[in-house]
Amino acid sequence: MTSNIANKNFLILGAGVTGLSVERSLRSRGGKVTIADDYSDAGIKTEVIDLKKFDAVVVSPGWKLDHPLLIKALNSDLEVLNEVDLAWQIKSEIAPHQKWLAITGTNGKTTAVEMVAKILQTAGIKAKACGNVGETVIDAVDQVDPFEYLVLELSSFQLHWVKTAKFHSSAILNIAHDHIDWHGSFEMYAQSKLSLLDKSEIAVLNADDGEVVTRSASWKGRKVFFSLNTPAPGEIGVVEELIVDRCFVSDPIEAQMICEISDVKPTIPHNVSNAMAAAALALSIDVPHEIIQKALQDFRPGRHRIELILEKDSIAWIDDSKATNPHAAIASLNSHLSVVWIAGGLTKGADMEALIQRCKGRIKAAILIGQDSVLLENALQKFAPEVPRVKVETPSGYLKGQADNSLMEQVVTHALMFATSGDSVVLAPACASMDQFISYADRGDRFAAAVKKLVAHAN
Ligand code: ADP
Repeated sequence: MTSNIANKNFLILGAGVTGLSVERSLRSRGGKVTIADDYSDAGIKTEVIDLKKFDAVVVSPGWKLDHPLLIKALNSDLEVLNEVDLAWQIKSEIAPHQKWLAITGTNGKTTAVEMVAKILQTAGIKAKACGNVGETVIDAVDQVDPFEYLVLELSSFQLHWVKTAKFHSSAILNIAHDHIDWHGSFEMYAQSKLSLLDKSEIAVLNADDGEVVTRSASWKGRKVFFSLNTPAPGEIGVVEELIVDRCFVSDPIEAQMICEISDVKPTIPHNVSNAMAAAALALSIDVPHEIIQKALQDFRPGRHRIELILEKDSIAWIDDSKATNPHAAIASLNSHLSVVWIAGGLTKGADMEALIQRCKGRIKAAILIGQDSVLLENALQKFAPEVPRVKVETPSGYLKGQADNSLMEQVVTHALMFATSGDSVVLAPACASMDQFISYADRGDRFAAAVKKLVAHAN
């Protein structure tokens, strides 16, 4: 298909990072490109678009499935392409020896993908993390001196569309409620994650995640399970304080150490799981154990992921703004014994009740913000009525991105009233941020700024 990009008319749906990157790539190959976007000046309005003028449509991952123009395109004879498959086709022409690894899951994708990239780079392999993290896949492919390996972070939105790309090995970290509003149901969301299996030679799977285990049961390819428990032969797991390999060893009766649990920072269960998935992917391409250990020792997750802002008077202030769904918030709350919990925002259709049921013993008080806070309030009332809770209302005239940080300052002021020595104050909202903030990063930065202003400098 890339050979006939020249002079073809492409319509790209979405003028975001992916759409603009696809545009560059197609134009550089002589393609003619129009971008549609109802919300960005970089695109033209969808209502004025006549599909008859185009040879193919490239749909951006976040584009709503029920958008009339997309439905029209799907019902027409037009080819409906996506960035990842396009990148795969281009790779096949310009970098036929390049191999792809992939990671999906509800949580931990970015962390695990960055771990794999770090391990491969430590092994002296020319590798890059791309996809839903940092650079787009198409930009990572489009290099004069190609990478040997790309490590792709693939969201459920991307996987919904991917058809032709193939992976040497890929990992599914976990599957829990998220993005139900976009996919239409949990079933569709889970299927989208699972679709990665049929595109992979080896699948690295989380044995501790019931959804992953059950849903992958009928897949016939080579499975490598990882678990926080003692590994069976053929698995990677934990024995006392060590992460051990009983899979990529000459004799699976033997167990070979990959690293100590404490080499993985922060040393909390879900992060150890991510490290095992990353190790398994690296082992699947023959990276030695010692290299994996060295790389993990040097690795730290990105910002806003269980990030310690400040420790004062034996109270830890933690920014886990990236916990944008209940599954991540559960992992976060379970990493601390007594939590003053800051939560709320947009639930995206995810269920908040199971979260409260599972974590209520850890929640000392809840400070709620955002549009769907009533759903959290109701769940707390139902399953943990004894937990004190405060709703912080949006200040009147509040605008997203404004300089004034009074919303988060109110939140931190309330947290100060509840927190005592030994507690952790944790921003792990279980919700997306876009109702009140520009992004999860903006939400985390504002929390950190308020903590620095009101806690660090207070006596
Ligand atoms: P993703 O790219 O899938 O969103 P991140 O690595 O950015 O994953 O982490 C997202 C959130 O999920 C953070 O709050 C992080 O602390 C939490 N998290 C990371 N790994 C896991 C895991 N394996 N299980 C549950 N939560 C996790």
